[in-house]
Amino acid sequence: MNFSNPKYKKMFDRLLGACHQNFPSIDEKLLAKGFEFAIEAHKNDRRASGDEYITHPFEVALIVAQEIPLDDVTVVSALLHDTIEDTEISVELLQKEFGKEVAEIVDGVTKISGIFKGHEITQAENFRKLLLSMVKDVRVILVKFADRLHNMRTLEHLHPEKQRRIAQETLEIYAPFSHRFGLAQFKWELEDLAFKYLNKVAYDEISNKISAKRNERESFIKKFADPISKKLDEYKLKYEISGRAKHLYSIYRKMVRRNKPFEEIYDLFAIRIILDTSDKNDCYTTLGIVNQMYPPVADRFKDYVSIPKTNNYQSIHTTVVGPDGKLVEVQIRTRNMHEIAERGFAAHWRYKESKTTSDKDLENWVNWVRDIFESATKDEEKKDLIENFKLNLYQDEIYVFTPKGDLKRLPINSTPVDFAFEIHSKVGHHCIGAKVNGKIVPLDTRLHSGDQLEIIISKNQHPNKNWLKFAVTHKAKNAIRKYINKEEEEIVNAGKELWEKKLKKLKLSFNMEDIIRLAVSLKFEGTKHFFKSIAQGKLDLDDVLATTKEKEKKEKVSVLEFDSFASSARNTAGGILVDGKIDGILYSYAKCCNPIPGDPVIGFVTIGEGVKVHRKSCNNLSMIQEKNESKFITVQWPENESSLFVAGLKIVGKDSPGILNDISHAIVSYQNTNIKSVNISTADSSFDGSVTLYVHNIGHLERIIERLKKIKGVISVERFESF
Ligand code: MN
Repeated sequence: MNFSNPKYKKMFDRLLGACHQNFPSIDEKLLAKGFEFAIEAHKNDRRASGDEYITHPFEVALIVAQEIPLDDVTVVSALLHDTIEDTEISVELLQKEFGKEVAEIVDGVTKISGIFKGHEITQAENFRKLLLSMVKDVRVILVKFADRLHNMRTLEHLHPEKQRRIAQETLEIYAPFSHRFGLAQFKWELEDLAFKYLNKVAYDEISNKISAKRNERESFIKKFADPISKKLDEYKLKYEISGRAKHLYSIYRKMVRRNKPFEEIYDLFAIRIILDTSDKNDCYTTLGIVNQMYPPVADRFKDYVSIPKTNNYQSIHTTVVGPDGKLVEVQIRTRNMHEIAERGFAAHWRYKESKTTSDKDLENWVNWVRDIFESATKDEEKKDLIENFKLNLYQDEIYVFTPKGDLKRLPINSTPVDFAFEIHSKVGHHCIGAKVNGKIVPLDTRLHSGDQLEIIISKNQHPNKNWLKFAVTHKAKNAIRKYINKEEEEIVNAGKELWEKKLKKLKLSFNMEDIIRLAVSLKFEGTKHFFKSIAQGKLDLDDVLATTKEKEKKEKVSVLEFDSFASSARNTAGGILVDGKIDGILYSYAKCCNPIPGDPVIGFVTIGEGVKVHRKSCNNLSMIQEKNESKFITVQWPENESSLFVAGLKIVGKDSPGILNDISHAIVSYQNTNIKSVNISTADSSFDGSVTLYVHNIGHLERIIERLKKIKGVISVERFESF
């Protein structure tokens, strides 16, 4: 590659070298083009340090290539990550020059930066989720991590106030987040850098103490490890012994949490022996060697090699008494176990946090990332994995800010109404408009992650039906429905009151069926609408009631019809059994409840009229029962599996083509039920019909009633009886 300036050529060669070391194949042309493009875009800018701006994207790209090597697309995106934000370059231009993937990653990084600029970090966990909800491609986050790491490494050039803000954000958001991604090294470095700017005094103190003790510590570790090394060599084992790294911030945190001085935390020596072997028995051989040299401390031995932890962690832990009587924690594991341990560590860390379903998603995602870093070597495999990164994670929710900067989580497509009910039901009930990012918008506006919202309320505003068309959350929908129903109920009740007053005045009486019939004939959906219309003054009751004389006549017809129906049904059934016997006793049917075959019945012994057969559900029965307990007698309809009873149904509904067909079909198609007679009369647009049919028992009849009620246009179905 030829760059005008040898300085740039040198930089590019460095980047190229890192890429070659970590990727099986790279698109050198694309990398060179990206680098050149970035140089040109930032040529007039300088960093706070006075360096040319290009040093920043270059270092970020280098971090990506060396420390989180995923692919060359990510490296190119890192080179370009600040172009949209800081220069005149547009997403469209990037897409034209570098393709959709690069453009989308750079765009994603830019959007994240936008969110962080405008807001104080108050809820770290929600912020991490906000980040995820905005990101469609995991590589956006990786570039952002690298960007942040380089900014932290060069933080000294900024104003102290800015240093603190960025350090705080790093400690709360980026450090834990990078650990979740399995990027432990990132986490340590970010934490230590943040610690340096947030608590300079403690940082310096610990840092000084560590360097003062470095020699002492290193010589102790050597003293401890040397005899072990010698023995391991004798056994021809390949190994690596190291003192486990202690990071400044983690020491500090332990001091605070355990309330102990530096020395007690730091003087706990920890050694790790990693064996380059595939035979786990070598771990036990090594354990034997360690114990031969140093006596183990009872109760401090754990064998996770034979019995791995649930997260697949495998290692032997033991504590021994080392030179000078100092306690030393020793971990023994194979290289393979070590890798699993490092990888599982991210998972281990998150167990301490509250678990939700989305956390589970996150864990899976982290594992994907780890897989890419560690195992996928073939390009094809990587491609597949990256395809899987086109995430749906958190894409079904959005995070929006309250005016105070708190974050609220909402389902995707939520509107200001949803947000308002999320804040408080009072806010929801009276919201009249909203400001999104300072602009007034209508209530049905779809919100996006990162929006800042202010709800405008008015005392006179109330929920209306229209809101149901765009509200998304259950909370909002329920509240709106509840309000509408309550409002409607009040109107219906007002209508009922007016109606009853009118009837009283005209000395008329209507039962529910009459009202239904009337409502249907006036083309209302049902009685609710009928009463509503009365309340709203849309219906002239005098007019409507003028025709009721007609209806009264009809009533009488019904009664006559029923009497003849009832007696024919009883005859078909073969009368009644009194005390189990078919004849010999005089009986008759009570007029008050008019029992028909199939009704549960009971007999009452009268003087002169023999046994009166009542329905068990008859209202008069309880009155009689109180005084004459002894005068009741068992009666029943003749029981015979194949015997059929005649039952009558009254059906009221809207007159529409085909409805009679639907009714007869519903009856006949159920267990081949036979229809005895059908009587339908229509008036205006309503019909009412009586149908008599043959049924086996009450259950059979009830099933048919259910079926009839489901027919479109049928408003009520009732047992045929007198009124
Ligand atoms: Mn940057």
